[in-house]
Amino acid sequence: MSESAPREVSRRSFLQAAAVAGAAVSAGAQAPALVKGKTVPIELPALPYADNALAPHISSNTIGFHYGKHHKAYVDNTNKLIAGTDLAEAKLEDIVKAAWGKPEKKGLFNNSAQVWNHTFYWNSLSPKSTSPSAQLKARIEADFGSFQKLRDDFANAAVTQFGSGWAWLVVDGGKLKLMQTANAETPLATGQHALLTVDVWEHAYYLDYQNRRPDYVATVLDKILNWEFASENFAKAGV
Ligand code: ZN
Repeated sequence: MSESAPREVSRRSFLQAAAVAGAAVSAGAQAPALVKGKTVPIELPALPYADNALAPHISSNTIGFHYGKHHKAYVDNTNKLIAGTDLAEAKLEDIVKAAWGKPEKKGLFNNSAQVWNHTFYWNSLSPKSTSPSAQLKARIEADFGSFQKLRDDFANAAVTQFGSGWAWLVVDGGKLKLMQTANAETPLATGQHALLTVDVWEHAYYLDYQNRRPDYVATVLDKILNWEFASENFAKAGV
């Protein structure tokens, strides 16, 4: 993130920082080592593309705040909330499920679910044009009638989610469905298998689109939705 880089760094410290960043990325592919009794930090995953790769549809300025500030804050808050608890060594997915529906863990649910939702959102976007696999395309046509109908229903779900939340394409009970969730709520907690998501919190679009959520949603759906990611998730759903 250019925004988090120091304004003035020596070439040496820059190279050291780059080496550390590279090591962090490659280490991220492996499961973190468990240390008994210690918090295993939930990590902020690297963006799957450069912070300006989605421009002009989503600007690097939006990504700087959305990923660099909001997503990072959810990671930091989750780590604070699990420190010293029985979830200190748990995986993110297990933390989300353990906190779901428990009033005393509402803060932990909101923060940990938002970590998972945002990582899923970044992967739901792609700077290159993608299309669904033949299997997913056939299922879209069976369950929605046409790709265009799915696209229009998806847009409607994203635009009409009242307030902050998410629109999702999921597999539920063996069928493709659209769902809306409020705030941090997530299909990970409620048992649906997510294929794609669109973040409709204002922080996702306000810098680029101000109050024009329909324009942001149409742009995401028509220009940068990652159908390769959806196809991989569909294959994993095993339907
Ligand atoms: Zn967001």
